[in-house]
Amino acid sequence: MAPGRANFFKLKRRGATGGLRTVGALSPTIRLGQIVEILLVAALIGLIPAYIAQKKGRSFFPWWIYGALLFIVALPHAILIKPNLPQMERAALDSGYKKCPRCAEMVKPNAKICRFCGHNFDLQSRIGGIEGIR
Ligand SMILES: [Zn+2]
Repeated sequence: MAPGRANFFKLKRRGATGGLRTVGALSPTIRLGQIVEILLVAALIGLIPAYIAQKKGRSFFPWWIYGALLFIVALPHAILIKPNLPQMERAALDSGYKKCPRCAEMVKPNAKICRFCGHNFDLQSRIGGIEGIR
């Protein structure tokens, strides 16, 4: 029992020094793999603040970089930032939405009546058509 115990302690000590040695001499391939892993995770979690910022009319790509580099700061920033209304309006117009002439809200391209104020687009286009004939 006594020699066995001695061996056990020797192995433990060797293991401890061996462990330190491996930490100090990490192979470049393992380090590269870890770096790639960290970058992939950063790129993925960076999508969250980028998506939130994009919904508020901000540019996606700079927010993605910001979110990947500083996720802890970028996420609350994206949540608390005020929406960029002119940019959101431009994006809506680009995707076919129209602006209600009465209440200035953005409504779907095929809407006949404004869902916010009840403005009748059909009537407006008919009046516009009559005025066009004259
Ligand atoms: Zn309206």
